[in-house]
Amino acid sequence: MTEQEILALLQETGALLNGHFELRSGLHSNRFFQCANVLRYPRVAERLCAELVRRMQPELSAGRVDGVIAPALGGILVGHEVARALNVRSIFAEKQDGKLVMRRFTIQPGERYVVAEDVITRGGRVQETIDIVKAAGADVAAIAVLVDRSAGAARFDYPTCSLLHMAPQVWEPAACPLCAQGSKPVHPGS
Ligand SMILES: [Zn+2]
Repeated sequence: MTEQEILALLQETGALLNGHFELRSGLHSNRFFQCANVLRYPRVAERLCAELVRRMQPELSAGRVDGVIAPALGGILVGHEVARALNVRSIFAEKQDGKLVMRRFTIQPGERYVVAEDVITRGGRVQETIDIVKAAGADVAAIAVLVDRSAGAARFDYPTCSLLHMAPQVWEPAACPLCAQGSKPVHPGS
């Protein structure tokens, strides 16, 4: 899949909106991204994650993969579809008292996992998930991310593959060029 095809899918499914937005942070942007909107469509999610796995093949060919692990909630659907493409099991870590933990699955020492996530901005949840795998005596094969919004800031000790790099352009309201043109920002989703 080309970047154009991927962008088109994100726009068709309402995951990627172009316009003039006031974000929750109060900053303005010309784009709004809501990954859950593309994952609403299982066939599209399946296709995107199969492409992600295709791109990871060089990293994964070095050894077997026992499963995919994702941080809940955002990563679960991506983890599930990546696991389908790899034909391995899919598990997830969940928040408990503000920290990601394994609540309902067990990681065995010596196993090898792909860590999956929908979007990374700083990559904190992916790093927490890596730490969980390592603490169990297992290993990380690679990291699979649909959209990397970190602009290179999120770096991990393992090969990382994403479908799209998309650093958002944001402005303070007073410096927003769209406001300067007289347009009014909208709250995304409303
Ligand atoms: Zn503005």
